[in-house]
Parts: sequence; C-alpha cells; structure tokens
Amino acid sequence: MTSAPERKIKQTGCDVRFDNLTRQLYATDASIYQIEPIGAAFPKNAQQAAAVIRAAADTGVSIIPRGAGTSLSGGAIGEGLIVDFSRHNRQIGKLDVEKRSVRVGAGVVLDQLNDFLRPHGFCFGPDVATSARATLAGMIANNSSGARCPIYGTTADHVLSLEIVMADGRIEKVGPMHKSLRAERAKIDKLIRAQSAEMADRWPPGLIKRWPGYGIERFLRAPDNLNEILAGSEGTLAAIFSAEVKISPLPREKGLGLIFFASVGEAMQATVELLDLKPAAIEHIDRPLFDQTKAQLLFQAARDLLELDAKPCESILIVEFYEDVVERLSMLQARNLGLRTKILTDAAQMNLVWSVRKSGLSLLTGGIGPAKPVAFIEDAAVRPAQLPEYVRGLQLIMKPLGLEASYYGHAASGLLHVRPVLDLHSGSDLKKFRQVADQTSALVRQFKGSLSAEHGVGIARTEYMREQLGGELLGVMREIKHAFDPKNIFNPGKIFEVGSARCAGRTLQRGVPTRIDNHLRENFTRPLELPFQPVLAFAFKDRSFIGNLEQCNGCAGCRKDTPIMCPTFIATGDEVMSTRGRANIIRAALEMRVNGHDPLRSAELDAALSNCLSCKGCTPECPSNVNLALLKAEMLYARHQRDGLPLRERIFSSVDLLGRIGCAMPSLANASLNFRPLRALMEKTLGISAKRSLPHYTRERFDRWFARRKVGTSRCDVRTPQRGVPTRGKVILWDDTFVRYHEPHIGIAAVKVLEALGFEVALAENRECCGRPAFSQGNLDAAAKLGKHNVDLLNSAGSQLSSLRSATARQATNPPSSSYGAASNSPASAQLRLGKQPSAPPILFLEPSCWSMFVDDYRELKIENADNLAKHCFLFEKFVDDLLGQEPDALQFKNGSTTVAIHPHCHAKSLMNPAFMRRLVERLPGRKATVLDTGCCGMAGAFGALAEKYGLSVQVAQHLFDKIDNQPPGTEIIASGTSCRHQLTDLTNVRPKHMAELLAEAIA
Ligand SMILES: Cc1cc2nc3c(=O)[nH]c(=O)nc-3n(C[C@H](O)[C@H](O)[C@H](O)COP(=O)(O)OP(=O)(O)OC[C@H]3O[C@@H](n4cnc5c(N)ncnc54)[C@H](O)[C@@H]3O)c2cc1C
Ligand code: SF4
Ligand code: SF4
Repeated sequence: MTSAPERKIKQTGCDVRFDNLTRQLYATDASIYQIEPIGAAFPKNAQQAAAVIRAAADTGVSIIPRGAGTSLSGGAIGEGLIVDFSRHNRQIGKLDVEKRSVRVGAGVVLDQLNDFLRPHGFCFGPDVATSARATLAGMIANNSSGARCPIYGTTADHVLSLEIVMADGRIEKVGPMHKSLRAERAKIDKLIRAQSAEMADRWPPGLIKRWPGYGIERFLRAPDNLNEILAGSEGTLAAIFSAEVKISPLPREKGLGLIFFASVGEAMQATVELLDLKPAAIEHIDRPLFDQTKAQLLFQAARDLLELDAKPCESILIVEFYEDVVERLSMLQARNLGLRTKILTDAAQMNLVWSVRKSGLSLLTGGIGPAKPVAFIEDAAVRPAQLPEYVRGLQLIMKPLGLEASYYGHAASGLLHVRPVLDLHSGSDLKKFRQVADQTSALVRQFKGSLSAEHGVGIARTEYMREQLGGELLGVMREIKHAFDPKNIFNPGKIFEVGSARCAGRTLQRGVPTRIDNHLRENFTRPLELPFQPVLAFAFKDRSFIGNLEQCNGCAGCRKDTPIMCPTFIATGDEVMSTRGRANIIRAALEMRVNGHDPLRSAELDAALSNCLSCKGCTPECPSNVNLALLKAEMLYARHQRDGLPLRERIFSSVDLLGRIGCAMPSLANASLNFRPLRALMEKTLGISAKRSLPHYTRERFDRWFARRKVGTSRCDVRTPQRGVPTRGKVILWDDTFVRYHEPHIGIAAVKVLEALGFEVALAENRECCGRPAFSQGNLDAAAKLGKHNVDLLNSAGSQLSSLRSATARQATNPPSSSYGAASNSPASAQLRLGKQPSAPPILFLEPSCWSMFVDDYRELKIENADNLAKHCFLFEKFVDDLLGQEPDALQFKNGSTTVAIHPHCHAKSLMNPAFMRRLVERLPGRKATVLDTGCCGMAGAFGALAEKYGLSVQVAQHLFDKIDNQPPGTEIIASGTSCRHQLTDLTNVRPKHMAELLAEAIA
C-alpha cells in the first residue's frame, strides 16, 4: 500500500521508485553497512530534485544524496529516500579555457570528464581510484583526492561554484561569485572565527588531505566561501546538482621510479627521504596486496613487469614525477634505497603499474575465505614524516590481537589504507573490530592526524567525531548543520550521531547514536544459508557459492562505462543491470528480503538474473572475481531442480539435436523458420522473438563434407598440405553445432589453414554438443552429461585414437618431436608438454563459447579429467598465431591492403588477452588491424532471441555498432563468435567473418 509520503513524493513527477527491488538495490554501498531505504528518486534536472526534496522534507522523509555508491564509510546509504544523481545529470557544460573551468552535472563521472578534457590538453586534478564510476558530486561531497594530492590537492581545491538544492527545496548557487545565503554565511563566519585558536591547537599544519567534518579551517582562510563548507559535507547539508570546477593542464611528461623493499617500515622511512624530490605521488603497495594479483589474467603483465615472481619483496614505493623527469629519476636512483629500483617512462608500462595500485582495495577484499581486509580505519592520515612511527603504532595495535593488515596507500600524503583482516561473521573478530577502531582513533588523535582523510566520516567514523574534534569544534559543526538543515533531513546519522528524526511518518532511531558496529551487512550477523546443495566447483576461486557471492564488496567497478563488464549496465545505466546489483539481489533473495520470501523465485531475482548475459565479463574484470555467470547458473539450476525445467529452456538446451533434425530436411526447416505465422506462434507460445532471424540449416553438414572429401580433390578446393604431406601430426578440429549445421564454410576454411600448415585434421567422432546452451539455461545436469561424454571421448588416449576419423587418405607417421605440440616453444606447446599424453593431439575450437566450456566450465561442473583435457584445448586463432610466432614462414599469404577490425568474443576475452588477434591479422601483408574495445554483443546465445529480451539485446549491441561505425569505410569485421556474427548480420549491413575465413582467403 502506498503511504502518504510516497504519494506526495510521486506527485512531483520525478522518477521515484518505492518497490522492494529498488530498496534492496540501494541498501548497500561499498562499505560493510546495510540500511534499507524507503525508495530511490532519479531526478533529471534541478527542479525535479528540488520538488522531490521539498516533498520528502514536508513529509518527514530524510534524503540521502547518492552518486555511484562507492562510499567506503556507509555515507551513501540510509533509511530515507536515496536521491540518485548518477542516473541522469551527466552533462558536461561549456569549457572555459581562459578561466580554466568547466561546468559539470552532479552525475558526471571522473573518467568521462577527463576523456572530454584530454583533447583540449586539460584534466581534473584529483584522481580517485574509482575514477571509472565516481561522480563529481560524490567527489565534492567527500572532498575526495588521490595519489597526486601533493600537486593537485583535494577536490575542494577545485570547486569554483556549486548549484545546490536546500532542505526546503530552494535552488541556490554558492561560491565566491555568488551573493546567496547571506545570513548563513554571516552566522558561520562568526562561529568559526570564535574557534580559530582551538583549530590551530587541534590541527597543526602539514596534513595535505582533509580533516573530518565541515571544512571550517578552509573557510577561515577563505571567508565567505561556502564551497569550503559544502565540499566534504557528505550530503548532510544540501544536495549538489551541478558544479563549476577548475581544470589543470595535462602534465608535459611523466616518469615512474619503483623502489622495492624488504619491509614496510623501510618503505615508510624512504618516503620521508624522497619528499624533497617533490614527486607528484608516492604510493605504497605491499605484499598482501600484490599477492592477490597472482593467477589473475588482468594483472599478469604487471606482475611480469615488476618481476614479482623472480625477485620477491615485501613492499614497493611507486614514485611519480611530472616535471624534470629524467633528472629527478636519476636523483632517485642515486639514493640507492631498498633492494632494487626500476625506472619506467613508457606510458603503457606505467599504466600497468597504476592498474595494480588503482585496484588495490578491491584486490585485497578479493582474498579467499570469510576473513577479509575490512575498511574502517583505512582512511586515517598523519603527516608523512610521522609515517614510520604511526605504522609502528598500528602494528602494536594489530599484533596482540593476532591481526594481519595491508599498509598500502598514498604515502606522500601520509594516508595508508590499512585494512585489518577480520571475519565479521565471527563474534570474536567483531570484538577485535571494535578494539582496533577505538585504539586507532586514539592513536590518530595522539599524532594530531585525521581519522577520515578522503573516504568520508559516514557511519564508520561518526562515533569518533567527538574524540577527534572535541566538543567545541563539533558544536560549531552542529550549528552549521542546523543553519542549512534545521530538520535534519539530509543524510542523518552521519558526522553527528543522531539518526533520522522521522521517516515515512514513523519516528526512526531518534536519539539512537550511530555506532561502527550497528547496521552491519546482514550476512555478517546472520550468515547466509543456501536452500540448495550447490553443484558447481567455483574452481577459479573461492570453491564456494557463498564465498564467491560475498566477494562482492560493492566497489562498483562493474558500473564503469567501458567493456567488458558489465554490458547490461553500460547499455542501461540501471543499478540492477550491474554485476553489483545482481549480487546484491541474490544476497537479498537468500536473506528472504524479497517479496514472497522464496529464495529461488521472485520478481526481484528475475530482474537480476534474467538480464545477465552470462558473458563472463565480470570474472576477470571484477577485482574480486565475482562470477555472476556461475552464480546465475547455480540459482537457475536449483530452481529447475525444485520446479522442473520449462519447455523453452529445454528447447534451448537442445540446439544440437535441432541441428540434426533441421539438416535432415533443410528446405522444409528453413522455409518454416521464414514462415511468419509460424514465427508469430513461436513468439506467443515459446517467447522466441519473431523479430529475430533464426540460423538456417545447411544442405551439407560440415562433418558429412569432411567425411567424404579426399585431400587435393575436394570440390571445396581444400589444398593438400604444403609439400604434399602432413608434417606436423594430427589436430582435432572441434566441429561445433554452428559450424556443423549452419556455417560449414567456416570449418572448411579452418581445414584449409590447418592443412596448409601441415597438420592432419581430424574430427571427434561421436562427439556431443559441448553443453554451452544447456549450461546457460541452468540445465546443469544435461551440461554435465554432455561434458562427461566429451571429456571421456577425448581424454583417454585409447578412445582418442579409436574415435578419430582421419582427414586424409594417408596415415600420419610423424614422430612426436616433429609435431607442433612437442617442437614448439609457444605457450600452447608448453601446455601440451605438461599434459600426461605429450603426443595427444591438440583440440582446436572455432567457437569461443565451446572452447570456454572445455577449458573453464567443465572444471566448474566437476567433470573428472577435465583439467587434463583443458591443457590440449586451444582457440583456433591462438593456436595458429602461436605457431606463426615460432615459424613466421609456415604460411605464405597474398598481399592485400585492407583494414580489419576484430570484435573478440566475450568468453575469449574473459580467459585470454585478445591483443594477439591483431598480431595474427597483421601477419597478412598489407593488413592493418584493430582489436575493438567491445564487450558482449548482446546476442549471448539464445538471449537475443527471447521476445522479452530482444530490446535489451539491441541496446547492448549499440556499443559494438558505434565502434564499427567509427572504423574507416571498407573495414573488414572479424567476429569469431557465432552469436556476434548473428547479431551484426541481423542488425547492420556488416558481413562479419570468422578469423579462419580471413586466413584461408589470404593463403597464397
Ligand atoms: C575501491 C575504492 C577505491 C577508492 N579510492 C579512493 C581514492 O583513491 N580517493 C578517494 O578520495 N576516495 C576513494 N574511494 C572512495 C569513493 O570512491 C570516493 O569518495 C568517491 O568520490 C565517491 O563518489 P560516488 O559518486 O561513488 O559517491 P557516493 O559513494 O554515492 O557518495 C559519497 C558521499 O557523497 C554524498 N553525495 C553523493 N552525491 C551527492 C550529491 N549530488 N549531493 C550531495 N552529496 C552527495 C553521499 O551522500 C555520500 O555521503 C574509493 C572507494 C572504493 C570503493
Ligand atoms: S561485482 Fe565486483 S566490481 Fe562489481 S561491485 Fe561487486 S566486487 Fe565490485
Ligand atoms: S556475466 Fe556479463 S552480463 Fe552477467 S553480470 Fe557478469 S559482466 Fe554482467
């Protein structure tokens, strides 16, 4: 039933949602806290924001302004109405180069702003690690800063004016140029002046990050400027709708000096010794952090560059210079600090190092098991010279409690993001949590440091505000709060301990103080229980469904605008379409926070799961490796086990069978697929979109063509191997469902390439479908059965040899040393050598989603010997590229002059770096290639064929279409995924090819 406040807020015309799905989505941010709001509003302009805030205030509903929700302190959650400024309000206004300023909407994301400014030679200085999703209003509200604080300062240093919505709905412009809020300014001025001595005593100079609470010491230096009070006010005074901000010229040059140490203490001491070199940044990372990059595809290149495996160390300082780079780097080297140094000036290499640093926080939380590095004392800063002593103090706190912690962060600013490893599910660790918090607050006070430097006070630090500020200064801040927000409407319970006065007509928490251990996420205090027995291994990490689900710490990395993760969020901007949204809703379902209290079936769960493309983009890109494709498959499977497998899912699981039937009578089958009344009926009864073309069946199946052809005489013009005999031994070509029944020309092209390379090609007789279609429907029993059949068929040497049907009339007699697997030093051959059967032939895949079944999902299905088989399975193009890398002349290609754009399949991207594809194409003389920065095409197997998902599928594809539109005219498009080619062929004029076709056509 709609309450009176809800009705009044809805009448404003703003998009406001009070449904349970929205309430659960916005119940958490990136902190350890959870509070369910009454709903969320998504204003499109300042007037809408004003109307909503006024209506909420009039009905006693509190307001929590929110950006991307990356707050680590619980600042972006609360019991009232969340006002999400990130959904709309992403306009960047006119750039004023002379004044060096630009106007931004509240929801503009930092990377978006910097992409806009870069071509003009400018940037926004403060560089939060969450730059891919943090909003400018969120940054202003938290007075965020980053690694380059020594030269750029904090966000507050860059605010020229603000457009704000006050608690009574007034829209005001504030800043030195504006005369607004005269009475408030006068009052605040008087209050602050009276406390100047107290401030000087409590806050001696030397700290370059912020003090907690409102910027009263800044206001003292710049009287009359309310920006100083509002920046850093954490949404407790007003809502920021837009801002005019200062911009900075891009640095002319950059260089990095990396110094490797045997201990954290030595690194801290060295920081002090490096400050005189005036670096732009000194960042510290330590072993608990960089150990998390082990076995992570995304970070392997960085690990190699830092030589972490060959030359172990305990801690690294990343020292960056912007001016006089060569000279200052050589001065750094001359100081002979630490175990060794490494100098980098190449932009790509420097970016690799920064990628590790920027992912630091999420990497740490990605550790396996219930104990995680917890954010609660992670934002304390001291003067840099105090760092060695401060770290010793922290270690003295941790040691008696037996706690480990990482000490990474902004060393040049004296801010270390220390996160003790605690299991918040356990009562004893909860006690330690409090002990550490209490003692750290006292330690910081002893150093006259700042307990909250850039992440906000939020829920995590409000309790300690009195100790940190003292009664006098806290009193001044309370008066300021009252001047702006007399009814305590804005973000109550943050900075000041008293929570919201009233919410939805109810009195909430009046007088209940905010405590660090109140409002913890429910799964900490009431451990999750599964109503089903998980069947998947979660083999890559965690080895547990709950373990992987709890990896989602809310950091919002999946809300970025660029692929691969998460394509549905990129397309829609909706929280529920992000990996975080999905993980939060699965948690809500298991905690019975969904309507109907059924953990396996609810509208909320459907909204979260049914739109996930199972593209696997999150697994490598999420720093904690949340694997939504697996979580979804497991939830669907549990549902099917209980409620039965629906007909549509059954049909989609059986595309291989449909292929066999279709190819038995292709004319009839194809005519049926084109017959509109039948398609309309299929849409009505099965929900298969009539707008979507369905793949036609071929007249001659690929396997049949393969069986009857004779080498050198084939009517399809497949050539004999070079020099007439297969010289490299045997390869098995996996003739997937689509190549076999729909696109045999791709298989034929692959055979041509492989034989030209000197391989004897064979198919796996009696192979079954790889099981991918069944897996993506959550039909895991069927997928496991198919997988087991295929693994058994291919894994044992006996069954391999008996099941192989030779492609040639001749028998291959090559000794193992002449085979590709044994002779080459490529990664592929190295893997082959590791296998139990070094002479077992490589198995090559044309379809990336089948390949990923063999190398990834069979392990997840716990299929015996799948690991061993995976060592022999290669993506066709990778195998060919590896070989040409060893022997560039193994194939002769015709000259050409085309440009080629490659759209890698998302399953390929999730398991390997696709950069090699460009190299492969550029082996063809005269070709220029680009690997498109794209994610899932939106087709995702059967997803794009579903009537109810067709629109979303097209929306997701737009990103790919835009990238293709930006290519020069005449560019050839390579897409090795069947779904991707289908989507492109259906919705554009492009006729994409498989990589095998490009190579086959180019063979001289
Ligand atoms: C992995 C990780 C790394 C981080 N690294 C850094 C870092 O390097 N440096 C740093 O400074 N911070 C860092 N943070 C903290 C956080 O990302 C920043 O504070 C960021 O600027 C918050 O932006 P947001 O859009 O997510 O704001 P939110 O989290 O949504 O909100 C933050 C605060 O701002 C308020 N707010 C949001 N929008 C408005 C508005 N329109 N009007 C008024 N108040 C508003 C909210 O009420 C809340 O109190 C990190 C966080 C994570 C999870
Ligand atoms: S899914 Fe990963 S990237 Fe997204 S919020 Fe969760 S932990 Fe962060
Ligand atoms: S599998 Fe793909 S669509 Fe699903 S949550 Fe992960 S990135 Fe998003």
